[in-house]
Amino acid sequence: MEIIDTQKITPDDIQVSEGIGLFKLDVLLDKARSNSLWPLTFGLTCCAIEMMAVGSARYDLDRFGYGVFRPSPRQADVMIVSGTISRKMAPRIKTLYDQMPAPKYVIAMGGCAIAGGPFKYPGQYAILEGIDKIIPVDVYIPGCPPRPEALISAILKLQEKITAPKIKV
Ligand code: SF4
Repeated sequence: MEIIDTQKITPDDIQVSEGIGLFKLDVLLDKARSNSLWPLTFGLTCCAIEMMAVGSARYDLDRFGYGVFRPSPRQADVMIVSGTISRKMAPRIKTLYDQMPAPKYVIAMGGCAIAGGPFKYPGQYAILEGIDKIIPVDVYIPGCPPRPEALISAILKLQEKITAPKIKV
């Protein structure tokens, strides 16, 4: 057994050994987190119907650990923005996002959530043209509306993103 002489440990050595330890814990936590994300329960307009379909037995969202929709932002870590974002609703969505604990993730589902969809035209004043104008988005799903399979694909993409190696600076 090697005996460590603590007198010979430099600050650099401590940083390196701590870095390795934290990295391994990060990998473990990311793996666990990616398989048990809890979406916030809310829908905006028509795309929300497709999101609700994903929660049904036919698509079985529980396979991916996403089946526990939470009614409180304090218990949720993924927000699925599904539908048209009116300017009146936008500040409420931002508040809900702010109330979610970190780390937290956002999926923009459908053309409206990405960029205003069919309601984007010169002179329109009622619609926010993309949820990424107020909160960061991790995965975008194009379509009007996207099919439930597209949301499942986005969920798998988000899992990939969460477990991808992180660059530490
Ligand atoms: S993208 Fe299409 S289906 Fe989805 S909320 Fe907008 S208008 Fe409705």
